[in-house]
Amino acid sequence: MIPYVRDIKFDYGACDQVSPLIRRVVANNPGPFTFLGTGTYIVGRGEVAVIDPGPDLPEHLEAILAALEPGERVSHILVTHHHSDHSPLARPLQEKTGAPIYGCAVGAQAEESTIKTEAGSDFGFAPDISLCGGGTVLKGPGWTLEAIATPGHTSNHICFALIEENALFSGDHIMGWSTTVITPPDGDMTDYMDSLELVKARGFSTLWPTHGPPVTEVTPFIEAYIAHRRAREAQVLDAVAQGHGRIKDMVPVLYAAVDKRLWPAASRSVLGHMIDLVRRGLVTTDGEAGLDSDYRLAG
Ligand SMILES: [Zn+2]
Repeated sequence: MIPYVRDIKFDYGACDQVSPLIRRVVANNPGPFTFLGTGTYIVGRGEVAVIDPGPDLPEHLEAILAALEPGERVSHILVTHHHSDHSPLARPLQEKTGAPIYGCAVGAQAEESTIKTEAGSDFGFAPDISLCGGGTVLKGPGWTLEAIATPGHTSNHICFALIEENALFSGDHIMGWSTTVITPPDGDMTDYMDSLELVKARGFSTLWPTHGPPVTEVTPFIEAYIAHRRAREAQVLDAVAQGHGRIKDMVPVLYAAVDKRLWPAASRSVLGHMIDLVRRGLVTTDGEAGLDSDYRLAG
């Protein structure tokens, strides 16, 4: 079982100091993929970085600007990925502050992933400064943020480590309230599992997801997240072994307990596993691994 964290107290549009270096303003965009809304983080004092400005809501832009102290300046606008609940407000915030936008450009394959499994995509997202591949270190007075490439949820997903607090802004890569959606081809299960291991190895004390409260029991949480995916993978392999080699036959069995309206999203998630299993040589199919392919155990 994943030890989800869902207790969070806030008022929409209000600014809360949630750690010595971190303030949070939550946008009023609750929904099935955003939990209670997008948490926009403001890092530092005086010269600050804003992480995931959020959806293009005028009142959220006003709330972010109102959260700044007199004389405070936004020096960096950081974006974890191009989903509609994360990046669209970056340009309007730039128009008000002049700060450059940092992030990784949308992958060429991203539009193929567009189905209603997410809050929508912002294909116009175009950072001024590329963080693709990670490794870039950004500094302000008293704060240091390191970009860490964490592909999986999307190919361009970036997490940001706040070195002074041994904390990670985990975007949608690791969400405390839910598992994350992996939608091929832009979403990639192989990359996703590697990115979970990468974050786990860093030994962060706290994760600050875009949606919901922080995760403070970081290692057990990530281990449970990994175990959940491996358990699903075992179920998929079992179904294939029993001759149920088509995703459309697996989903009603594997997701019997889940609302049928979520089965299309579940099908994409199973496809994510199939692509990964084919790559690892455990499963095979004729031609490219797709939603309608017939899968069988390899060897
Ligand atoms: Zn997302």
